[in-house]
Amino acid sequence: MRCRDFPCSIKVMVILETQTNRRAVQTLPFCYLCGGNFVPLDETDRDHLPPKTIFHTDHRDPLILPTHKACNNAHNLTDEMMGQLLAPQSGRIPSDPKDVRLKLKKVGGSPAIDAGDLNIKEAIWRWISGFHAALYREPAVRIGIDTFGTLETPFPIGSIVDGKIVMEDIKPQHSKFVEAIKGNRENGNLDKIICNRDKFTYECFWVKSDNDEAWMCIFALNIYDWKDLGPQSADTARGCAGLYVLPSGGIPANATREIRDATPVVNNDPLDPFAA
Ligand SMILES: [Zn+2]
Repeated sequence: MRCRDFPCSIKVMVILETQTNRRAVQTLPFCYLCGGNFVPLDETDRDHLPPKTIFHTDHRDPLILPTHKACNNAHNLTDEMMGQLLAPQSGRIPSDPKDVRLKLKKVGGSPAIDAGDLNIKEAIWRWISGFHAALYREPAVRIGIDTFGTLETPFPIGSIVDGKIVMEDIKPQHSKFVEAIKGNRENGNLDKIICNRDKFTYECFWVKSDNDEAWMCIFALNIYDWKDLGPQSADTARGCAGLYVLPSGGIPANATREIRDATPVVNNDPLDPFAA
């Protein structure tokens, strides 16, 4: 398209919001989980992102990506556990107690969930690899694992070290990501996926690193206001946001680039990208 046909100043965001534009990515020629192109006789599957185990049956309006069957099956238990983690928000409580995979514990006198072998960050990174594939029609295998990434979960998480639970601090850069997302949102400058009857939102934009060497994707995601799963005090309640860099350090051709100094007009909650 030539500039005289289309004002040069207009930027087209990548937005997957309707069933029609989400359906278009169901025929991607590669498996977002391993990055491999499909070949004849491959056993393929359709993966719901985020997994359908998370959503109430009234909210089924998913993003679906094609995968190898074996690649998808490898994550069934993780998906089930993530669904149970979000059950207080979705209302999808297992009807049979023997199907409950997560245990309630006390940490420092407060209730906490023992997620056992569930690696919450790894699960979220897997989804983000899928969101990248859907928005930009290119595989980005194992974002945050094989390549650099950092994210804040929407509730505090910790791990057991020498028999004691050590909680992770909120990263200092988290509030910067939140501010940048809000500022670019105000300017209509975010790539976006919305599905599952508005119970799921993923937003992102791309910015050059300070040393000008690599492009970084700054993102935020919200599922059923999952921040409410954690403590509600102003210094610990946070939304989910983060950053990743592709192995090449590059930027997808159709990705949305930052508006510099896009400061939000309102930022009362500096830790939650989806709050005012
Ligand atoms: Zn695969």
